[in-house]
Order: sequence, then C-alpha cells, then structure tokens
Amino acid sequence: MILLGSTGSIGTNALKVATAFGLPIESLSAGKNIALFNEQIRRHRPKKICILDSEDLPKLDMPFIKAHDIEVFCTESGLLEMIESSQSTLAINALVGYAGLAPSLKIKQCGKKLALANKESLVSAGWLFAGYPITPIDSEHFGLWYLHTSRKIHKLYITASGGALRDMPLADLPSATPAQALKHPNWSMGQKITIDSATMVNKLFEVLEAYWLFGLSSIDAFIEEHSAIHALVEFVDGSITAHISHADMQLPIAYALDEQQAKCVRLIPRFDIATLTSLRFSPIDVRRYPVWELKPTLLAYPKLGIVLNASNEVALRAFLDSHICFGDISACILQSMRHFESVKTHTLTHLQDIKRLDSEVRAFSASWLGLS
Ligand code: NAD
Ligand code: MG
Repeated sequence: MILLGSTGSIGTNALKVATAFGLPIESLSAGKNIALFNEQIRRHRPKKICILDSEDLPKLDMPFIKAHDIEVFCTESGLLEMIESSQSTLAINALVGYAGLAPSLKIKQCGKKLALANKESLVSAGWLFAGYPITPIDSEHFGLWYLHTSRKIHKLYITASGGALRDMPLADLPSATPAQALKHPNWSMGQKITIDSATMVNKLFEVLEAYWLFGLSSIDAFIEEHSAIHALVEFVDGSITAHISHADMQLPIAYALDEQQAKCVRLIPRFDIATLTSLRFSPIDVRRYPVWELKPTLLAYPKLGIVLNASNEVALRAFLDSHICFGDISACILQSMRHFESVKTHTLTHLQDIKRLDSEVRAFSASWLGLS
C-alpha cells in the first residue's frame, strides 16, 4: 500500500495495523520528522519514499536507501509522481491540512482505493470526489459507515468531546495558550486536529465530511465527553442505532486497510458496557464554540468549506506561533465567512477555482489578523 504522512498520529497507527495484518508497504511519505522516517524505512523497507523538503535529503539514511534500492522523491510534485508510479491499489492519505487535497485528487485520478484521514480534502473540495468511493478514517464517519443499512435514514448524528478547553471558565477562554489548547482529554492526535477540536472547527469539518460522504444534509452533533459514542443514525422508522467503541483510531484504520481481517481480530481493548451509565449528551454551546453558528450556512452552501478551511489554517498557524490569542481563531473564521459568504459557489467547478479562492481567503485572513 501507499501511506502518505507516515510519521503522524494516523500514519504511525496505520503502520501498526499494517504490521498486525501483514500488509506490505510499497510507498511512504513524511514531512519534517526525518529521524522517525528513517526508523520506519528501515523497519518497513518501502520501495519508494518521499519527503517534503529537499533540504532534509542529507538527513535520510542514504546507505540503507542505496543498499535496498529505494527510490527517493521530494516535495509536493515528487509526492504526486510517487503516487502515480506506485503499483499499489490502496492509498492512505494521512497528511494534515490543505496540502492533502492534491494527493487525494491524484489517488482518485489513478483509480486507487482512497482511505482518507485527510478530511480537509473533502472540506475544501468535496464535490470533486462526487461518485468516487472513499473509505473514511475518522471515528465518527467510520461509525456512520458501520451503522449504514438499506433502511431509510432520517438524520445522522456525530459526537464531539468538547476538546481541551471544554471546562475552562468562559472568561478565560479568549486568552487560552497553545499548551492549554493542545491537552486533549480523550484522544492523542496531531497538533492541528487537537486545536480544531478545542475550537469546534473539527466538528464543522466533520459535518461537511458527512455531507459529502453520505449525501445527506440532515446532520447534527452534540458533546459526549467520554468519546465512547461516536455516531448515531436515526431511521425513518423511528429507531436510532449508535456506534460505541474505545477512542482508538486503529479500529477505523483496520477496516480501511483490510475489512476482511478487521472483522475477525480485536486490535483495541474490549469496551466495558458499564461505562455507558456515566455517559451524558450536551448541546454545543456557541458561547464556548462561536464557530458552531456556521453549521446551517455550511450545510446550505457546503462549498464554503474552502473559506472555513483556509481562514482556519491561517489563524491556527498564527495561534501556534503565539502571534494571536485563542479567541482570535474563531473571530477570524467568522469574519472571513462573512466577507466571502456571497461568493457564487456554483461557479466553483475546477481545482483552479478552489486554489484561487483559497489564496484570496488566506490573504484576507492574514490581513485581518494583522499578519501581513
Ligand atoms: P499529524 O500532524 O500527526 O501528521 C501529519 C503527517 O503529515 C506527518 O507525517 C507529517 O510529517 C506530514 N505532513 C504534514 N504537512 C505536510 C506537508 N505539507 N506535505 C507533506 N507531508 C506533510 O496529523 P494527524 O493527527 O495524523 O492527522 C492527519 C489527518 O487525519 C488530518 O487531516 C486529521 O484531521 C485527520 N484525522 C486525525 C485523527 C487522529 O486521531 N489523529 C482522527 C481523525 C482524523
Ligand atoms: Mg473525528
């Protein structure tokens, strides 16, 4: 298989599952963590590898790479070449952010099976994947997929943990620090998605992800602090079913890699049913999560996901670099959405249209935050 983003949280879990299932790795890619990437190369012996930056090439374990005749690619364009030249029919996209979109489109163009953790691909350009089968690597969407039957669906529900700042007094929230926002209570994940959970941007992303994957706009979310219930499906007949499991991404990854093996083994601990007595659902409060007010607009105009994603990426980077406060992330997103809400989304048809709007939103957001 091809694994993009192998050194990240999803990437390292995907390698664990691949090892447990005995699946060979043909191609691996990573960003800046070359020390871990070298270990992965020695352990999994891929035929092709790609890194983000050419300046990191000297840090690769060249004696090993030469001895095993491993082909080396570099930069964004090299990543697309590596995908195209790989024989594998399964590709896992575990890259983070907008950088994952072009590789997702390349995987689609090559007709390979797309196992997608990179939700930003769907948030920014879901309609470019219309009709193409995608296996989601996201606990809520895996849960929805698991619950899907031929019965007629009335509504989909996904849950949120509430993120690292769910119990912080409201008055302290605007000035929360990156260290505080990165302490997720239930999941161990990459930096970006952990901050996206604290702002609730992640749940807006997931509402859009569900919209593009399942073709329904009747979608809601609520907070379930234990991350035990991931998704619920309400059927027209009045029944509701729920997907319950430990908060462990190896389960959705296993199904994406090899459904037949995933059905027959247990990779994650048994769920203690007694835990259910302590579960509580609560609504998502817009005073704590101001971006949540955007949900109806995004479901009415899902292509505005580009605006949400681009403004969020600019603000999130500035927050992690300590240039802005936590409260500025949501303020920037709301301002950007107001500024671009009249964009004629029906004119967005090609990748170039997306790229153009993405750049405009980034410039607007940076300027509004005083970064440029
Ligand atoms: P991460 O930051 O831990 O890992 C990202 C990987 O991509 C790393 O290997 C990094 O080196 C590489 N990378 C980063 N920027 C790159 C670039 N510009 N070009 C090439 N490579 C680059 O992120 P993660 O938490 O593993 O999340 C990956 C994706 O999966 C995200 O879209 C996230 O929203 C989604 N997701 C993650 C989880 C989770 O539990 N971590 C759950 C559901 C969905
Ligand atoms: Mg999720």
